[in-house]
Amino acid sequence: MAKEHETLYERLNDRLATISDVRSANSLLFWDRQTHMPKGGIASRAEQMATLSRLAHEMLVDGETGRLLDASGDLDPCSEEGALVRRARREYERATKLPAELVAQITRATALAEPAWARARGESDWSVFAPHLEEILPLKKRAAEALGYEDHPYDALLDGYEPGAKKAWLEAMFGELKAGILPLLREVTEKGNDENRTAPLYGAFDEAKQERFGVEVVTRFGYDWERGRQDRTVHPFCISFGPGDVRITTRFDPGWLAPALFGTFHEAGHALYQQGVNPAYARTPLDGGASMGVHESQSRLWENLVGRSRAFWSYFYPRLRDTFPEALRGVDLETFYHAINVLAPSKIRVEADEATYNLHILLRFELEVALFEDELFVADLPAAWNAKMKEYVGVTPKNDAEGVLQDIHWADGLFGYFPTYTIGNVLSVQFFDEAVKAHPEIPAQIQQGEFAVLLGWLRENIHRHGSRYDPDQLVQKATGRPLDTAPYLSYLRNKFGELYELD
Ligand code: ZN
Repeated sequence: MAKEHETLYERLNDRLATISDVRSANSLLFWDRQTHMPKGGIASRAEQMATLSRLAHEMLVDGETGRLLDASGDLDPCSEEGALVRRARREYERATKLPAELVAQITRATALAEPAWARARGESDWSVFAPHLEEILPLKKRAAEALGYEDHPYDALLDGYEPGAKKAWLEAMFGELKAGILPLLREVTEKGNDENRTAPLYGAFDEAKQERFGVEVVTRFGYDWERGRQDRTVHPFCISFGPGDVRITTRFDPGWLAPALFGTFHEAGHALYQQGVNPAYARTPLDGGASMGVHESQSRLWENLVGRSRAFWSYFYPRLRDTFPEALRGVDLETFYHAINVLAPSKIRVEADEATYNLHILLRFELEVALFEDELFVADLPAAWNAKMKEYVGVTPKNDAEGVLQDIHWADGLFGYFPTYTIGNVLSVQFFDEAVKAHPEIPAQIQQGEFAVLLGWLRENIHRHGSRYDPDQLVQKATGRPLDTAPYLSYLRNKFGELYELD
């Protein structure tokens, strides 16, 4: 291509494509590190990954990127090109507003905090981790100031995960959820749970058979193996190197069916989103999701709305029983359905049920905001944590390992990230309901193990757009209204009301 005929927009695209290639190469190094790399590779892999991130960062913050963005600034904001420039500009501005010295300090502080957090959790000793958080928190506050905000410093960090989200908006959302979920949890707790309710999920479940069953299900969902693969890892994730290569990872427990089963559905949900992005968006900033929350809505939709539904299991349970005739002997569909849908107070977020999960997020959100407002100090965090656990969930952690130290997020400096999980939960139902409204045959199809119409709706209304729209725009376009907690709360109420025979 003759350079003189190239427009500035094309040059911007070339530059963004190069950045995207470097990042994808780095992602592949990450994927390899988590799945196949021998232990001995760790030191050189750390250097390789640091080098590639530095190269991508340098290209992004280079003055040339800014010049090309400025020159492309008059594109129609509603066009694909305009959306691409808007996304790229947001990223460029977030990257250039942060002083390099601050970024380096955060990188260093979090790199030291991670192993300290692991040790603190292992020993259940807050004092091992607290000094690291004391260092990270002011750095993140400085980052918020550097990034800028209209209303609240927390908004500046939120925006990195959920474009446009604000603290005040989240407070309203959580207020509605609290008003719906707390009474539901109370009513169910009063009814009480049968201790053996989850017993069918424990037993001898051969890993290879678990894998085969998971593959059968996600293939039916529509996961395309020509453009993906599945590997084993300790902390499962989904990773995309472009719409043509979207991989999932799974962890198997030979004595417990739940992690691999629902983990595979979950990661496949993320992967279906990425495989469904318009292929023309490959190597551009539009090859992603609208936000972390919207991404999570897709994983939760397949994991919970589909994968924990009675309709789904009325088709798949006979197959699961054929796969594990010994372990599931005497367990009928209804017993199994109850086992995978327990609502109960829990201390650990990642083990929490669909409803209580949001109370765990609410608690973290409130603590983060209090830390940012200097209403709460690091030293008082364990006590504040336990008090809120008691208030919202009704349990008190035995120690800090199963309390304030349970998540890695703060060690990584990820303030503002937790709320995206709950946004995802809420949106999963709003999207699912809308799909069913458009295609009332969807539940009957799920009962037949057919998902094409559901996936088709998601593809058309969500997946293909990639990052073209901001989350509020996308939700509005897909469902005709902004994020709405009502469908989510009535879903929980109906499902668990029926399961627990509430009035
Ligand atoms: Zn997820």
